[in-house]
Amino acid sequence: MSDLIKLLPDHIANQIAAGEVIQRPGSVVKELLENSIDAGATKIDVNIKDAGKTLIQIVDNGKGMSSGDALLCFSRHATSKVSKAEDLFALATKGFRGEALASIAAIAHVEMKTRLEGAEVGQHIIIEGSTVKSNEESVTPQGTSFEIKNLFFNVPARRNFLKSDKVEFGHITDEFERVALAHPDIHFSLHHNGSELYNLPSTVLRKRIVDVLGKKSNDRLVPIEETTDIVTLKGFVLKPEFAKKTRGEQFLFVNDRFFKSHYFNHALNKAFEGLIPERSFPGYFLYMRIDPSKIDVNVHPTKTEIKFEEEKFIYSIILSSIRLALGKYNIAPTLDFDQETSFDIPHAMRSQPAVEPQIKVNTEYNPFQSTSGRSSLSKGKSSSNFTQAIKSEGFGTQEAKQEDWENFYEIKEEKDNQEISTGLIEEEVQATFGSFLVKDSYILSPSKSGFLVIHARRAIERIVYDSIIISFINNPIQSQQLLFPLQKELSKQEARNWKESASVLNQLGFSGEVNDDELELNAVPAVLEEETLSKSVDQILETLAHKEIEKGELAHELVGSIARSAAMKSLNLSNSEHIQGLIEQLFQCENHSYSPSNKKIIDTLDLSIIENKFK
Ligand code: ADP
Ligand code: MG
Repeated sequence: MSDLIKLLPDHIANQIAAGEVIQRPGSVVKELLENSIDAGATKIDVNIKDAGKTLIQIVDNGKGMSSGDALLCFSRHATSKVSKAEDLFALATKGFRGEALASIAAIAHVEMKTRLEGAEVGQHIIIEGSTVKSNEESVTPQGTSFEIKNLFFNVPARRNFLKSDKVEFGHITDEFERVALAHPDIHFSLHHNGSELYNLPSTVLRKRIVDVLGKKSNDRLVPIEETTDIVTLKGFVLKPEFAKKTRGEQFLFVNDRFFKSHYFNHALNKAFEGLIPERSFPGYFLYMRIDPSKIDVNVHPTKTEIKFEEEKFIYSIILSSIRLALGKYNIAPTLDFDQETSFDIPHAMRSQPAVEPQIKVNTEYNPFQSTSGRSSLSKGKSSSNFTQAIKSEGFGTQEAKQEDWENFYEIKEEKDNQEISTGLIEEEVQATFGSFLVKDSYILSPSKSGFLVIHARRAIERIVYDSIIISFINNPIQSQQLLFPLQKELSKQEARNWKESASVLNQLGFSGEVNDDELELNAVPAVLEEETLSKSVDQILETLAHKEIEKGELAHELVGSIARSAAMKSLNLSNSEHIQGLIEQLFQCENHSYSPSNKKIIDTLDLSIIENKFK
């Protein structure tokens, strides 16, 4: 039998390597930015079309390449950064694997121009799917420029699995921000489809963070500084009250390289323990400097995971220096329910037994008068009518595709039908009389077989949610003009997200403009209250920031956050009529057993449990 083993041809090996290094347009941006930094660039411009699917262009003023290097850089394992094994253990550069350019050239159309400082002419190379199409001298500025087009043109499986432009561009800005935050001394810019999204002149660290996050962040930063023999820590954490429901603002760097680490994240979360609500994430920008021989960057092809020799020690240094900083800036533990927006109140209280809950009740306000919910809800649409209504009206916007709503409702209906026990429905009929509120959180309602227990805030969330959905289907939703427009500084990302979703936001009753990263709101959905408006808008911004939310889902996610905001403030259950009103309205909702975020609203407290206590 003849030999079976063959060496893979280079272009196939490169394609395989590309699968590891280049997963999406964002990975190309990361690799090219890192190369420009290693080349000593002081200015790097990024220009993207269609979330990188059409064009990724990166222009630097770094040291450039000779004509020989210009061609060689596309070969596998071609690197100027490592020449002997020891170099690998003391990396001062970002690159070392010599893989990125070979990988990119294997799966895209690449055009590169480069010129060394002092050289008369530069080199211009065109390479497509690892084949050199052209290689000639050319007049070009000092430095290097790359144009990457038709990414994954020969790997259809990859190309087809790229996500929407919003998601892919989100990854690009993530990579861009990580690099920009690691190198405040370098001038970066980012354009997308012709508009400038970032222009970050060379500056100091704090200013760079503020330039990236938005002006409002300046007051929120608490500096961190700690020097030990093993590691130097520098950077900032965000004050606890700006902790978020999403992981957005968490950045760890070591020797100017962004990396991810569950272990160190844990140290940071621990430092904030007791200062922020459960299931929220502190913000931080932590820069470590450490002897390069004490870390191993080579554990993952994309170089975002790093091994540390002394990780336990570093863990405790992070923990103590952040606690110290938070203490020094007098950030005392505060916990109040206005901040707790996930509504898992009993759970949050369990871990904080000493803190008295403070729910401010606005006794003037009746949550059920201001919404159009009652009249629409009392029509008591049957399940199929309801779906029918959605089908016939649709949403008429590109953002919210009718089918997505149908799918959403069908899925939910199925789930709820399974989970509502018939016994519970019988109980409901009785459960409007003699009900009372316990601990400002639960309504206990006497029933045939004991008590129904209703989670009041979740109930309100459900009622508001349904009322908005129904009026959203039939009419534009009720909005209230603000006497004084609400102004809010946004980060670049937030500003972009708001603009991209402007038409859905409009339909939901928000009207306003974003100029220069400042949002000015003139009108908001009527169910929101002015007092908590700023927080409500923060919630909306967080929802918009969720990359995983695809366009069709956005509208119902936004309605969910509006409902949560409305429930946050509207706990006005000072007398039995209010309580009764709430119960009636809840039972008119189709999915009264679960809140829009799928949490249980109703349970029973069986008489037998009480009887057992007296046996
Ligand atoms: P690595 O960065 O791991 O060395 P790459 O494939 O990313 O591997 O790059 C290969 C080589 O090409 C680099 O080592 C460097 O010498 C050269 N190079 C790449 N990009 C640039 C650039 N923007 N300016 C100057 N040289 C570059
Ligand atoms: Mg590289």
